[in-house]
Amino acid sequence: MPDICVASHHSRIRDLLADAEFRALANKPGFLVELRLDQYTDLCPASEQEALNVFAPNCVVTCRHPEEGGGNTYYTDVERVNFLRRAAESGAKFVDVEGRTSLTNFDKCGAKAIRSFHDFHRVPPLQELKAKWDELAGSGPGGGADVVKIAVMPQTIHDTLPLFDLLEYGQSKRVPTMILAMGEVGLWTRVLAGKFGSPFTFGRGEGAPGTAPGQPTWRELDELYRFQEIGADWPVYAVIGNPIGHSLSPLMHNTGLKAAGLKGVYLPLKIEGPPEPVLNTLVRAGLQGVSITIPHKEAVMRIEMEKDPVARQVGAVNTLARRTERKPLWYGMNTDAVAAADSLVAVSGSLDGKNVAILGAGGAARAVAFGVKQRGARVFIVNRTPERAESLAREVGGAPMSIAKLVELKPDVIVNTTPLGMHPNTDASPLEKAQIPQGSIVFDTVYNPLRTKLLQLAEERGCRTIGGLEMFVGQGVRQFELWTKATAPREVMHDCVLKALRERQKH
Ligand code: NAP
Repeated sequence: MPDICVASHHSRIRDLLADAEFRALANKPGFLVELRLDQYTDLCPASEQEALNVFAPNCVVTCRHPEEGGGNTYYTDVERVNFLRRAAESGAKFVDVEGRTSLTNFDKCGAKAIRSFHDFHRVPPLQELKAKWDELAGSGPGGGADVVKIAVMPQTIHDTLPLFDLLEYGQSKRVPTMILAMGEVGLWTRVLAGKFGSPFTFGRGEGAPGTAPGQPTWRELDELYRFQEIGADWPVYAVIGNPIGHSLSPLMHNTGLKAAGLKGVYLPLKIEGPPEPVLNTLVRAGLQGVSITIPHKEAVMRIEMEKDPVARQVGAVNTLARRTERKPLWYGMNTDAVAAADSLVAVSGSLDGKNVAILGAGGAARAVAFGVKQRGARVFIVNRTPERAESLAREVGGAPMSIAKLVELKPDVIVNTTPLGMHPNTDASPLEKAQIPQGSIVFDTVYNPLRTKLLQLAEERGCRTIGGLEMFVGQGVRQFELWTKATAPREVMHDCVLKALRERQKH
């Protein structure tokens, strides 16, 4: 089972020793602490020994060269090797020595030697990386490294794709290999490290800035991603978008998979540019399902896939499922449409013959329009740009409408699919209070905040209201069930998202 190594961010050994979080981690099964000797301004043989007394054996000891991201103090090769030798003698599990540092006559004393290389500016070409791997693998004490570690800096997720070949190269040579791509786009290299036989991955302390950009916290790795359990046979799921950091899908799906006792890990993938090469590469790591968010909804339609009838009608997919049994290898669904209609039916009962006015004519409006039309509703589209309202109304077999007409019509249901009212513009509403028909059902697809201005006004008008959270969870539940063929733990998925949204609203 791979470990989670929590990198010390402290600038003094004294601070590390006083840090209760790190002291507790030293004795937590499945965890290692990385002592970054180059960072400590109070490093001397005595303070190093004090730290080793606390953290060995569950530690990785590193004394980086400045050109490989080293910290506060410059040490000569001889000094660095002496610190590492002392760490090995004191029982540290791993010592990390850059390939640039000669290790002749280095006695590991039972520690494992990581031979490492760092490039903080780019991802070198694959041939160069393979040559670097060979050099590192063959240069450990006694003629070979116990672990090869290569850390690089991608600009986009596409830069990280050749790293798959490098991981497979390391696996074929049977030397444990750790490849780390720094930054948000490199998250997959950290979370999936165990799938490729890496002995550990790096996380940061809670609230710590992290010693490399893009490092998740140890708690995220442990509790959200279940890092230590991820094996070669675990399916991978992902949400693709840009930006993606705010997405609640990783929380909802990982929490759901864990609660259902299923193997599977769900990653946020920040993709600039075409998603297809990323998906094709991640399939090699077991990618089975994908959620699609802005701006990839259109690009994804160019991928060869079989679409379900709803996705064909809506003209958009928000979900891909991988098939192995027949071509095309992707199956595309639109789970938004069904989830939106389900959320409404849960409150209004049958939609058959009901008048549903949809505010907006974008992607969410399309999904809602086709979803409710399928349940027998009469659809009206109200939009800032009337031509788009006309076009969607024509496609769905409904009618375009102005706000003035909406007030006259007094529809049974109003659905907001514009971003008006969404955080941070929480004072905005697509309708004024007087424009909301008394007694109608008002559904806002916006879910941050949970209670939008529109919903507040609707409640004041005596309307029944539905927040966008129900639709968000509903579409996630359908994805979960499509991918896993198991019943989704809806309540658990709902509650974790609700809790996270409430937390966000506090800040
Ligand atoms: P989209 O394709 O960009 O469409 C946005 C629509 O809102 C367009 O019709 C646009 O009108 C209209 N609009 C934008 N700004 C406006 C403004 N200031 N005043 C009036 N109308 C405005 O976006 P989308 O993908 O449909 O997403 C829209 C919202 O739906 C999101 O913000 C999200 O909160 C919500 N959503 C929720 C879920 C869920 O699961 N709960 C799922 C998907 C989406 P024009 O045509 O005139 O530009």
